[in-house]
Amino acid sequence: MDLNTVEEVVRTADPAEWRDGDAWLAGGTVLFSYGGAAFGKEPLRRLLDLGSTDWTPLAVSAAGIELAATCTVAQLYAFPDSEAARDRAGDWPGLDLIRPCCDSFVASFKVWNMSTVGGNLCTSLPAGPMISLCAALDGTATILGPGGASRTLPVLDLVTGDGTNCLVPGELLRSVSLPASALSSRVAFRRLSLSHLGRSAVLLIGRLDADARLVLTITAATKRPVQLHLLTSPEAPADALAQALDAAIPDQLYHDDVHGLPAWRKDMTYRLAQEIRAELTAPAGSGPAPVSGDFWPPGAWPPAPYAESPTERA
Ligand SMILES: Cc1cc2nc3c(=O)[nH]c(=O)nc-3n(C[C@H](O)[C@H](O)[C@H](O)COP(=O)(O)OP(=O)(O)OC[C@H]3O[C@@H](n4cnc5c(N)ncnc54)[C@H](O)[C@@H]3O)c2cc1C
Repeated sequence: MDLNTVEEVVRTADPAEWRDGDAWLAGGTVLFSYGGAAFGKEPLRRLLDLGSTDWTPLAVSAAGIELAATCTVAQLYAFPDSEAARDRAGDWPGLDLIRPCCDSFVASFKVWNMSTVGGNLCTSLPAGPMISLCAALDGTATILGPGGASRTLPVLDLVTGDGTNCLVPGELLRSVSLPASALSSRVAFRRLSLSHLGRSAVLLIGRLDADARLVLTITAATKRPVQLHLLTSPEAPADALAQALDAAIPDQLYHDDVHGLPAWRKDMTYRLAQEIRAELTAPAGSGPAPVSGDFWPPGAWPPAPYAESPTERA
């Protein structure tokens, strides 16, 4: 779309240059699809284009992976085939999450090649697959502000709701660090969508940490990411997982849009959480087959308990 209020495009990644009416421009797949209106940023006067930064898209060290905000989904998708990733594959099972999370971004190659990790986090949609990946792997965001200021915070806390986050105007997401400790964990992935190649409606990622704790990250089903830390010892009560979900996610936190009713998202969250727990507490490779993609067979939607659609209610 034409952003016909924009008077200037400035190539900069310096928060000191930011002023009212500006927006950081990364891949532009949101800005040029929806304009600034969808994000309360109208009228946009200038775009601050991050395209001229020379930030390394993805750097690997013993400490983990540093993803530049400008790393594209396509660059991230290619990473598991790189030598650096193959060298670490045995030590970092968490790398197995990269491809399913990129695949959850159901879009054309044009969108994949332009859209960035940072743009996805800052757009802060419930179905943001880079949010799912970075939150599940305990990613820490580095945020730059005017005057050389810099702060860090967990990606889990960066996204606060449907399209909202805790960046203040002018702040720039610089990078996300994924720690080796989280990458070293066994992981399980589950995703559901109402339609073939549809947007994620429920996306859960489980991590079994070295201390035998199950770390469960819920995204897409909820307006913002939610993370649970659960004991997996045999003494843990059978309904501990359901109780933890009850306590962490009030009904109003389940997301409600055309991609799924809150009641369905809630039921599927409980179901997939149990599946993940079963998979990760069983010996590696012996768990149930992962469920991913479309849940309802053709013609089976809507099932009786969810017969009311958001459109019918409107
Ligand atoms: C066909 C299609 C399918 C899509 N599917 C999905 C989907 O399944 N899930 C989903 O979440 N999104 C989806 N999107 C929306 C969008 O493509 C993604 O959210 C994408 O990752 C945005 O990244 P971008 O680099 O293009 O962001 P941009 O459009 O450049 O920017 C988006 C917003 O983030 C801000 N921003 C960007 N980078 C930074 C930064 N480093 N620091 C601070 N602010 C920044 C911008 O100012 C702007 O407000 C889809 C879009 C299309 C066109």
